[in-house]
Amino acid sequence: MAIIMEGRTLANKIKERVKEDVLKIGEEGIKVGLSLLLVGENPSSEQYLRATLKACNETGIVPYEFRFSDNVSMNELLNTVQAINNDERIHGLLVFFPIPRRLNSRKLVNSIIPEKDVDGLGSVAIGKFAAEESTFQLYKEGFDPGLAKQFGFLPCTPFGVIRLLEHYNIPIEGRHAVVIGKSLAVGKPLSLMLLAKEATVTVCHKKTYALKDITRQADILCVAAGRPGLVTEDMVKEGAVVVDIGINVLPDGRVCGDVDFENVAKKASFITPVPGGVGPVTIAMLLENTVKSAMARL
Ligand code: NAD
Repeated sequence: MAIIMEGRTLANKIKERVKEDVLKIGEEGIKVGLSLLLVGENPSSEQYLRATLKACNETGIVPYEFRFSDNVSMNELLNTVQAINNDERIHGLLVFFPIPRRLNSRKLVNSIIPEKDVDGLGSVAIGKFAAEESTFQLYKEGFDPGLAKQFGFLPCTPFGVIRLLEHYNIPIEGRHAVVIGKSLAVGKPLSLMLLAKEATVTVCHKKTYALKDITRQADILCVAAGRPGLVTEDMVKEGAVVVDIGINVLPDGRVCGDVDFENVAKKASFITPVPGGVGPVTIAMLLENTVKSAMARL
C-alpha cells in the first residue's frame, strides 16, 4: 500500500513562514494584499476561491475580490487589471480559470505586471524560467525576494508538486517522469521543472497514442488532465510515485482527482490524495509568492 503524500502538513509549514513574514513587514506599516479575479460561476473555481480566502485569513494577507458575470467584456477586465497593477495596496493578482472561451485568457494574464504575477503564468515569468533553468534551484522555501524581482515568480501548482516530492524525499534526478497534460498552468511548466531537476521527462496529452504504454514506464507519474478516472491501476508501474493534480467536482458535489486512487494506491509507492494533496500546497505557494512580492518592494 502506497504512502499517502499529504499536502496539508507541508502547506501549513509554508503558511507559518508566510504568517511570520506578513507580521514582519507589517511592522514596516505594510499590509500584504492579494487580489482574486473571478469570472462567471464555476464550481471548481468557487471551491479554490473559498480555500484561498481561508488561507489569506490564516496568514494575515488581505484579499480583494473582483467578481464579474459571464458576460463581462474583455475591456472591463483589462481595465480592472490595470487598476490593480497601479494599486499600492495590492501585491499580487490571481485570475481563476477557466474564463469564458470568448475572452482572451493569455491577453488577460499578460496584462498583469510581472511584479504582481504571483501565479507565475505570464509570458515574462514562464519565458524567464524556461530560459534560465539554473535559477530554479535557488527558489528554496524562504527564497530571497530579490530573486523574484529579477526572475519573477514560479507557477504555484507545478512548483507545489516539486516541493511535495522534495518534502517526501523522493529522488527526481535520473528518474523517468511522465506528465499527463501540457497546459500552460500545470503540465508544461511542471515538465520544465522536472527537466531542471534532471529527470527524463515524457509529456502526454489528449492526442497521445497508447498512453498506457508510456505511463507504465514512469517512475514518477504526474497527472493533470481534468478527467476523473483517467489513470487506472493497469497504467501504473509497481512502486511508481503518483501525483494526482486533477480537481474534478462530480455532479453530486464530491471532489476527485484524475487517478483511480483506491486501486492505484495498492500498486504505487507514494500517491497524493484529492482533496488534500497538491491543492493545499498550491495555495500555500500562492501566498508565499504574494508575501515575497510585498517584500521585494521594501
Ligand atoms: P487544461 O484543460 O488546460 O489541460 C488539460 C490537459 O490534459 C491538456 O493538455 C490535454 O491535452 C490533456 N488531456 C485531456 N484529456 C486527456 C486524456 N484523455 N488523455 C491524456 N491527456 C489528456 O487543464 P489544466 O488547467 O491543466 O488543469 C488540469 C487539471 O488540474 C484540472 O482538473 C484542474 O482542475 C486541475 N488543477 C489543479 C490545481 C491544483 O492546485 N491541484 C491547479 C490547477 C489545475
